Amino acid sequence: MSALPVSSPSAGRYTPPSIAGDYSELTPQQTELLAIASRLGREKFAPRAQQIDRDAVFPFDNYADLREAGLLGICVPQAHGGWGADFATYVMTAAEIGRHCGATALTLNMHVSSTMWTGFIADDLDMTPEQRANHEAHRKIHYQRVVGEGKVYSQPFSEGGAAAAGKAPFGTLAKKVEGGYLVNGKKIFASLAGAADYYGILCTLDKPGATQRDSLYLAVDKNLEGVSVTGDWDPLGMRGTVSRTLIFKDVFVPEIERLIPEGVYAQAALRWPHMFATLSPTYMGIAQAAYDFTVQYLRGEVPGTPPVKRRMYPTKQIAVAEMKVRLEQTRAIFLQNARAARVDPSKEIRLGLYAAHYTIMENANEICRLAVRTCGGQSMLKTLPLERMYRDSRCGSLMLPWTAELCIDRLGRECLYEPGEQDEQAVL
Ligand SMILES: Cc1cc2nc3c(=O)[nH]c(=O)nc-3n(C[C@H](O)[C@H](O)[C@H](O)COP(=O)(O)OP(=O)(O)OC[C@H]3O[C@@H](n4cnc5c(N)ncnc54)[C@H](O)[C@@H]3O)c2cc1C
Repeated sequence: MSALPVSSPSAGRYTPPSIAGDYSELTPQQTELLAIASRLGREKFAPRAQQIDRDAVFPFDNYADLREAGLLGICVPQAHGGWGADFATYVMTAAEIGRHCGATALTLNMHVSSTMWTGFIADDLDMTPEQRANHEAHRKIHYQRVVGEGKVYSQPFSEGGAAAAGKAPFGTLAKKVEGGYLVNGKKIFASLAGAADYYGILCTLDKPGATQRDSLYLAVDKNLEGVSVTGDWDPLGMRGTVSRTLIFKDVFVPEIERLIPEGVYAQAALRWPHMFATLSPTYMGIAQAAYDFTVQYLRGEVPGTPPVKRRMYPTKQIAVAEMKVRLEQTRAIFLQNARAARVDPSKEIRLGLYAAHYTIMENANEICRLAVRTCGGQSMLKTLPLERMYRDSRCGSLMLPWTAELCIDRLGRECLYEPGEQDEQAVL
């Protein structure tokens, strides 16, 4: 493995730093993956990002590059032909991709989650020997599709009700039938709609009195009878995610498409909460990109713009300093959270996780806002990437299950209550 620098300094110009902080703290695999992501991002994804955003189309060419570089298998265990990256390594790589194209990083996250949840997360969970053997047989097939055939998975769980916030069972139902399940339901905001080969849906086993413990995680081939994509897609930001609505009408899903054994998803959600924090690395990348743009703009180094320097004005220097403070706060909490991920985290780690997710999502948008204000009117033109970053950054804290509101909701409650504690009477 070669320890490549993420980007090579060019004399007299600003050299964007590593998204993951000090190189000396990175493992050889982290350094290698960051170098690949950085090269693809600079040479391929960034030049395509404007058109993907303008046309709100899925970045198929970027996925061809990700496939060729083996990044679709970043979290597939090495025993199954993947990189076997751990949580920290994956989120650093995702952030580097987000720096160049937010929609590519965010959709890649939906795909990678399907391999991470079935991979090192599932390895940490309790299963009976039969469940474990069954899981091994199933995931082998899915990993072969990803690594051997370059197939892409998505992760639609939002339904427009309380389920995606973790407060109710999923409304999409899977009825057990001979050889598999019959699936009926609807998923909204399904990134990669029409683009993924398999939709990795969360649903509920159709039985009397079903609860969240009866959640099922199934891979649904997009070509199966009864699967359709509806609605249009013309949003504010993250336009390349093409997050349209999926309808499932009496779709027969073979048993082998069950991605984790029945009942185990609920255990994962409870014991591996970092599984829901993989959306924020994209926004860490956008925050870094907005800062990088600002420095380059004020130094007169943005490609395609006149070499006019604006860095000598004290107000600009103060604004950049404020952005840097916020960026470093964000990076510090991002890295701390990345390295703290584990099964059964302590209460302090869990609270830190909510705080990190909230901070990254909110600060990304704040850093983009400061960037636009600091660079001024010309930087808002559609020919430059900053206005896209500004719009994309607004989407982060809207994403379930951990919107900014729900992070605050969880933090407030869990800071003040220990498990099982209740008040004798409400104080008005
Ligand atoms: C670009 C983009 C891509 C997306 N891709 C995907 C995807 O691939 N897969 C997927 O599953 N989803 C995806 N989503 C959907 C996303 O996770 C949310 O489900 C969606 O944005 C919620 O929309 P809503 O405002 O209708 O939610 P609502 O359910 O109306 O919630 C509105 C807000 O109310 C709060 N809230 C909701 N429920 C509760 C509750 N029970 N208690 C307290 N507060 C609550 C939350 O803060 C929430 O933001 C994507 C969203 C975006 C913007």
